[in-house]
Amino acid sequence: MICHPERLAKDLCDPSTSVSGRQLVLSDSSAPPQNDNLNMDCLFCKIVNKELSADVVFENENVLAFRDIYPKAPIHILIIPKQHIESINSENSENIAKDLILTAKNIIKRDSIKGCKLVFNVGKEGGQTVDHLHMHLLSGNE
Ligand code: 5GP
Ligand code: ZN
Repeated sequence: MICHPERLAKDLCDPSTSVSGRQLVLSDSSAPPQNDNLNMDCLFCKIVNKELSADVVFENENVLAFRDIYPKAPIHILIIPKQHIESINSENSENIAKDLILTAKNIIKRDSIKGCKLVFNVGKEGGQTVDHLHMHLLSGNE
């Protein structure tokens, strides 16, 4: 599912403007190599592929973590796999989720986060609006 087509369309029409802190980054020669496991209709795959910018707080070979564009807490980070997988209900999600949890632990330690909530919304009925597996890290301390 494309999650916010109207906002993406606005970005595409006017790449020079920032929309709620998110800017379209036109691809150039420094773009990362094509990842075969991306779904280019997916908002978070576009962020992985650097087609859409995000406030990235951590990145490694398999995982990307960036600040939620509409934070629900003073610290609100989304931790996602770089490969497209829909949700915790998807096959093999448990192995990928382990990488997300390890990343959360690294960020918690690195940023001295005193306490937090780690949340997976699973499926539309569970509040999942972006169909690319992600874990929310929410914390009250700045
Ligand atoms: P869900 O509701 O699917 O569990 O979480 C999706 C999250 O993605 C929401 O908290 C929403 O604010 C965030 N989000 C939606 N679009 C964007 C975007 O373009 N950039 C960033 N950084 N976060 C987004
Ligand atoms: Zn995706």
